[in-house]
Amino acid sequence: MRKELETTLLHCRNLPSPPGVALQIIALAQDPNTTLAEVAEAISTDPALSARLLRIANSPLYAARRRVGTLSQAMGMLGLNAALSLALGFSLMHGLRGRNGTAELQEHIWKHSVLAALAARVLGQRAGVGRPEMLMLAGLLQDIGRLALLQALSEGYAAICAKARDHDSLLAMECAAYDADHAEIGAWLAQRWGLPDYLTDAIANSESDVQADDGFQCCVQAASAIADLWMEPASTAEALRERAQSRLTDCIGSDTDTLDDVLAEIAAALPEISAAYEVRIEHPSHLQGITDQAREVLILRNLRQIQEMAQSRNDTHAIEERMRQLTEQSRRDPLTGVFNRLHMEEALERDFRSAGQTHPLTIALIDLDDFKQVNDRYGHLVGDQVLRQFAQSVQRTLRSSDLIARYGGEEFLLVLNYSDEDASALVLQRLLEDVAQLPMAVVEAQPVHVTFSAGMATHNGAAGSFDSAHDLLKAADDLLYAAKRQGRNRVHQHQP
Ligand code: GH3
Ligand code: MG
Ligand code: MG
Repeated sequence: MRKELETTLLHCRNLPSPPGVALQIIALAQDPNTTLAEVAEAISTDPALSARLLRIANSPLYAARRRVGTLSQAMGMLGLNAALSLALGFSLMHGLRGRNGTAELQEHIWKHSVLAALAARVLGQRAGVGRPEMLMLAGLLQDIGRLALLQALSEGYAAICAKARDHDSLLAMECAAYDADHAEIGAWLAQRWGLPDYLTDAIANSESDVQADDGFQCCVQAASAIADLWMEPASTAEALRERAQSRLTDCIGSDTDTLDDVLAEIAAALPEISAAYEVRIEHPSHLQGITDQAREVLILRNLRQIQEMAQSRNDTHAIEERMRQLTEQSRRDPLTGVFNRLHMEEALERDFRSAGQTHPLTIALIDLDDFKQVNDRYGHLVGDQVLRQFAQSVQRTLRSSDLIARYGGEEFLLVLNYSDEDASALVLQRLLEDVAQLPMAVVEAQPVHVTFSAGMATHNGAAGSFDSAHDLLKAADDLLYAAKRQGRNRVHQHQP
């Protein structure tokens, strides 16, 4: 770059400089220890910038499942690098835009830049480069040199742009006038501003005829060619299309992705992007053909999003339902379907605590009598059936505040909430009678009957209270064995 130009640029009052918030973001981007919170803090000092970030986070570009309502949500969704890149792009563009007289040309360059940003993103996606926001930023800033020249030299540079027939002649005239083209000048500026190296490199390479060997840089080069095709008049479209196609092939490396596909995708995303960057970009007449295609892309994309959202809603429901089922399952005894011991212990602790010193709580530990003989006589399967039938018939007689759980083998525990000794004795007595009546299985047309023994203890009853659920259980267990010793088929109750 010619020394005089550098001097002119350096001494130029109009040389664009990044606004304060952009400088802050640049500094944060340079620091590897930067946190998302620091970036959020810097961005939040500029309400317009915060609004733009929110807007883009809510655009279909990010297909957020939920509306992002706050800056920190937006930052969380985008992630550190994406948020930094987007914020830098927005703040630089906002700070540099509309500074000097040559408004029309400046606006033209910004439109080109926004298109290049979008094209770089689309290409990066297709080429599998990743880093979409960094690609957008590089696309957006690749013509920063033109903006600098326009601002520093104003009419002088505008005259060169007006005279240039096409892109190549613009570069040649820039070189003749300044000993450097706008890519070189842009890179110089980017370096002075302290922009990250990947950006400086992308800007420096943006106008090179030599294909960059880095996929990222390659996308930025091709993006510029595609933006040219979009922005330049129909008369040059044929040549520009050829150039854009060849750059596209370089970049994606296959001809399955046609230029028209890429253009249609750009056209589909353009409304959101141009709204976020606040530019108006029309579909040029020579690209009208892609408009219909873009509409199809849009319709398909919307459909896909609706499907994905419906799917994810269903998934959430299905997962919640499955979780509920699994939780329920984990509480149930698989053979009998009543609660298992684990759940019972939790429930008993809870009920014991809530009974406190106030209301009665009775438990009954039940053990089937001579159950071993049932197994021995009829086999285990019949034994199982008896256990199931027993548990379920007890369950049917209980109130909703009561609970039955399989405590182990052929033992069950009943928890009768708000039930004192007398009331509980009636419940258990009726149960003894019902069970004696009801066949628990039928084998070769013969009913299989069982009896049970139970030990029953009441907390906060006439006989007093217990210190813990464990003590209550222990008392019931002792009483059960007393009942067994006394001849089975009976209930023993804790006495004062
Ligand atoms: P008691 O009146 O003293 O309680 O005699 P019992 O035969 O019922 O007691 P014991 O503890 O001697 O035997 C319990 C039997 O219960 C032995 C065991 O095989 C059977 N059992 C435990 N769990 C199951 C089960 O899930 N299915 C079947 N079929 N039998 C079981
Ligand atoms: Mg038994
Ligand atoms: Mg037993």
